[in-house]
Amino acid sequence: MDKLFAQKNLMREDALRKRNNLSLAETQEFSSRINAKLMELGPVLKAKSIMGFASIKNEVDLSWFLEKMKTKGKTILLPRVEENENIVAVEFKGWEYTASGPFGIKEPVGPAFPAEEIDVILVPGLVFDPHGYRLGYGKGYYDRFLSRGKTPTFFCGICYEFQLVENVFPHEGDVVLDWIVTEKSEILINGDFF
Ligand code: ADP
Ligand code: MG
Repeated sequence: MDKLFAQKNLMREDALRKRNNLSLAETQEFSSRINAKLMELGPVLKAKSIMGFASIKNEVDLSWFLEKMKTKGKTILLPRVEENENIVAVEFKGWEYTASGPFGIKEPVGPAFPAEEIDVILVPGLVFDPHGYRLGYGKGYYDRFLSRGKTPTFFCGICYEFQLVENVFPHEGDVVLDWIVTEKSEILINGDFF
């Protein structure tokens, strides 16, 4: 195992440990602040379609925001992991139309939505840096999904403040985000969407 790989895994483990230690009250408070910030974000207001994620294990809970956006008539999408280990975006029509996926994450049923037609993608992750790079769970799901074309899609990283580090030591396949939101701060990486 090379040194960089080990270092990245330490960062992942550290973030996971801190996240696991959050109380229910903390995850709710932080999530609610993040949901509120997303409601006012320019690219979100303009978006016709928004891809979020269904949270597990103390991840930021976006359900309030996603449901609110749905009632405003926006197309809401959630990721689904396919047999070939790739992510597709599928329309979220309500929690009753979801099934538990490979990691116990709720995934919508139905056809895949064209990735190039998504206006905003909210990207989960374990660790983020101020240059817009992130570490996921180490399987590259989002890198593969997002690198299929940087059409004018706004990539917004979602995490808690303690998941920010100075440098995640990105590699070539890592996709750059345009914006990162935590309960405490917002990081602008690419201003083209405002
Ligand atoms: P994560 O982003 O989940 O933290 P990594 O960035 O380390 O994980 O990627 C894990 C693996 O996923 C890589 O070793 C590589 O095999 C694959 N991968 C990452 N980015 C891409 C990409 N853009 N295209 C294809 N495969 C990729
Ligand atoms: Mg990566």
